[in-house]
Amino acid sequence: MDFSILAEAFDRMTKTSSRTELTAILVEVLKKTPKSLVSKVSYLTQGKLFPDFLGIEIGMAEKTVSKAIGKAYSFEADRIQELFRKTGDLGDVAAELSSKKSQQRLSSGKLTVESVYSTLEEIAKTSGSGSSVVRVNKLAMLLDSASSLEAKFLVRFVTGKLRLGVADFTVLDALAVTFTDDKKNRDKLENAYNLTSDLGYVADLLANKGLKAIGAVRVTASKPVRPMLAERMETAELIISQMNHEAAAEYKLDGERVQAHKVRSGEVTLFSRRLEQITDQYRDVVEGLGSLPAKEFIVEGEVVAIDWEGKYLPFQELMHRRRKYDLDAAMKNYPVVLNLFDVLLVDSHEVIEEPYEKRRAVLEKLFEGAKTKNNMMLVPAKKVKDASEIDALMEVSLASGCEGLVVKNLESSYKAGARGYAWIKYKPEYRPGVRDTIDLVVVGANHGMGRRAGVYGAFLLAAYDDEADVFRTTTKVGTGFSDADLEKISRELDAHKTKEKSPRVDAKVEAEVWFEPKVVMEIIASEITLSPIYTAGLDQIRQGAGFALRFPKFTGKIRDDKAPEDSTTVKELMEMYQKQVRQLKKEELETAES
Ligand code: ATP
Repeated sequence: MDFSILAEAFDRMTKTSSRTELTAILVEVLKKTPKSLVSKVSYLTQGKLFPDFLGIEIGMAEKTVSKAIGKAYSFEADRIQELFRKTGDLGDVAAELSSKKSQQRLSSGKLTVESVYSTLEEIAKTSGSGSSVVRVNKLAMLLDSASSLEAKFLVRFVTGKLRLGVADFTVLDALAVTFTDDKKNRDKLENAYNLTSDLGYVADLLANKGLKAIGAVRVTASKPVRPMLAERMETAELIISQMNHEAAAEYKLDGERVQAHKVRSGEVTLFSRRLEQITDQYRDVVEGLGSLPAKEFIVEGEVVAIDWEGKYLPFQELMHRRRKYDLDAAMKNYPVVLNLFDVLLVDSHEVIEEPYEKRRAVLEKLFEGAKTKNNMMLVPAKKVKDASEIDALMEVSLASGCEGLVVKNLESSYKAGARGYAWIKYKPEYRPGVRDTIDLVVVGANHGMGRRAGVYGAFLLAAYDDEADVFRTTTKVGTGFSDADLEKISRELDAHKTKEKSPRVDAKVEAEVWFEPKVVMEIIASEITLSPIYTAGLDQIRQGAGFALRFPKFTGKIRDDKAPEDSTTVKELMEMYQKQVRQLKKEELETAES
């Protein structure tokens, strides 16, 4: 398959933000793709070579890529960097130099998807001394045979800036249409994807074995399962009635969610909430996990930092463990404990479909049988039948340093990748009249002035619209940041700068700098209001107005455990707005009565 088919499709994709159009282009491409390449094409359109959980990234630095461009087009790397500074897009620089060179070139080799993929794979897997030269040479070889358009997308790909805006669900839609002629089958594909977190695998299975094979997909140790998520509710009364007056209430620990997989060879791998490998970060919990009495398993828990007396510490303390070097020292100085709360698989028995009570029993048995319980505990759980029991447990949980409770439906199976009322989170912030935190994605910023010169001073934030798969703006925030916060956040955002507003961002207001939606910030605000300048929930409550936040303030938490698609959704903003209206009405009534 010619790589030009893909490059041309990528080019069309960068020019649209409509999900329907993106899907249609993808369907066209998939129809032209030989079945053996469907998985590779699915990964490539997402700027990847493998599923994220394998942790194999190509990530070439712009400087290294400049060297490869220089080599391919006989140009000095320094001048390439200069052009890059001017245009802000190394892909465009490569395209321009390539078109100049092709006028002099006698012949150009045709690139195929197979050859591009395998060279990129080699680049990704080359490591050790001398690897930089090898990587430069391999990329230069590809660029030498590439057309101008192909060069543009190759360079964007290797620098991690492909940015086609093709989310997982768009690929699933396109796969359903291409191979089953019916978009409704996307649900079946989504289920298989939720169990394996591997789009390429699902694509390959569908293309080569059909829908029946998709229905037979099961959880597998080593492939992370997309996490089950909780809805929030504001009072214990509402929760217990939603649960039909019987549920299990567990402490909601304030740490990092971890999914642990043990395979038959004995190896234990830890995945984050975003399903990235984080085994090295928490080596100290691996020993206990390895001693659970099972040859293979998938369990879930929350890693929490503890002090020397074993008391829980807040989430921020875990930041000390987010590093690549001096891991041993970090492990010693910042101890953690893994608090197990679920089990999905034990020794080829899938327990994911079992009700909560059964899973909890399996988990307890597993835990009891562990040879060492170092750095490992079971999350405290208690059966509750009325609101007062929930509120009483809430007090105990808060006193022991937890955030609140997660109340769980006794009969529910583990719903991979779904947010629903089978798990309900309950925090003091949700109670009426108290402000709740919101996780929003940074999509733009303005430069700081005065003391804040050199960093960004205000950020444009957006909520996720999960139906349209875009990010819609809802506020600007400039308070709550320390100087160190601003420095750190600005540098992190610089890596995601874009020349123009990303096609996945829906904004009416202007920003001096735009970013790819990547960084998730926790915000607190006094109220949700309506404003004509924001696009989240536009026209839903009032024509021409969207949701805005009053007195927004950064809480100090960058939620790097959350993907942008995990941020607060427009739907959730709507629920919060409605809750606020209910509360106001109640207060008005109370004032009128008194
Ligand atoms: P939050 O921002 O409240 O942490 P979230 O979007 O990360 O929420 P939710 O599913 O909405 O995830 O809330 C549940 C989260 O709470 C889990 O992702 C997990 O990290 C954490 N947690 C802590 N204790 C528990 C528990 N006992 N059971 C399930 N999840 C728990």
